[in-house]
Amino acid sequence: MRVTFLGTGDAIGTPKIGCSCDHCMQAWKEGKERLRTSLLIETGSYHLLIDTSPDLRRQLLYAGSPHIDAGIWTHGHYDHFMGFGDFYRVQKPPVMYAAPEVLEYCGEIFSFLLPEGIAVQPYQPFTLCDLEITLLPVTHPGAPTYGIRIESGGSVLVYSSDTLRDIPQKSIEYMRGADLLILDAMAPSHLTISKHMNYTDALNLAEELMPKELRLVHLSHMVSWDQPHSAYDMEIYDLGLR
Ligand SMILES: [Zn+2]
Ligand SMILES: [Zn+2]
Ligand SMILES: [Zn+2]
Repeated sequence: MRVTFLGTGDAIGTPKIGCSCDHCMQAWKEGKERLRTSLLIETGSYHLLIDTSPDLRRQLLYAGSPHIDAGIWTHGHYDHFMGFGDFYRVQKPPVMYAAPEVLEYCGEIFSFLLPEGIAVQPYQPFTLCDLEITLLPVTHPGAPTYGIRIESGGSVLVYSSDTLRDIPQKSIEYMRGADLLILDAMAPSHLTISKHMNYTDALNLAEELMPKELRLVHLSHMVSWDQPHSAYDMEIYDLGLR
């Protein structure tokens, strides 16, 4: 299983429009960017998309224009699903998998594309693109939101892009000991964000979950470019080859 970080930014992206903070200015100077957070998972000949960010068009171009076989929506926030329309006249929109309430909300907005959707229940593993996948409820006030556990050939990836530190104990059990853990860390440690973890929260959760490797995503422009464990856009991580 190969993971490509298509984007590692928050809902706003970095640089932020109109912002002249040090991190945004460094982005402009060095040609760096954080597109909205999403992942591409490759296994065999399959390409699975985790969330369809508003930057989807550019992300697929940067990733070499893969044909997407299926997708999963984690929740119905703008930065995680509104790019689905970019499939229009590019390929048949992929079948989208999500928890029932997420699928209903996102599918309704894109009803003009006649999307195919399959509702899946949390904590009930299903097979997709030769991967065993389980949706895990997390805590993201205002929207039902799911982390994802993906297992392939003995390797385990756990992803939770939008959550507070205090997630259900049952989800914690599914998230332990991953080969690669990907977590939300929207703000530096001195800032508290109402719906997201900051850097200290993320490290604290990672300490409990004990992954082999940790990457942080959903990083805002408030996060310095050299924060440890930060993923970067188009970073590729091969599970099973390490
Ligand atoms: Zn988000
Ligand atoms: Zn800024
Ligand atoms: Zn969100």
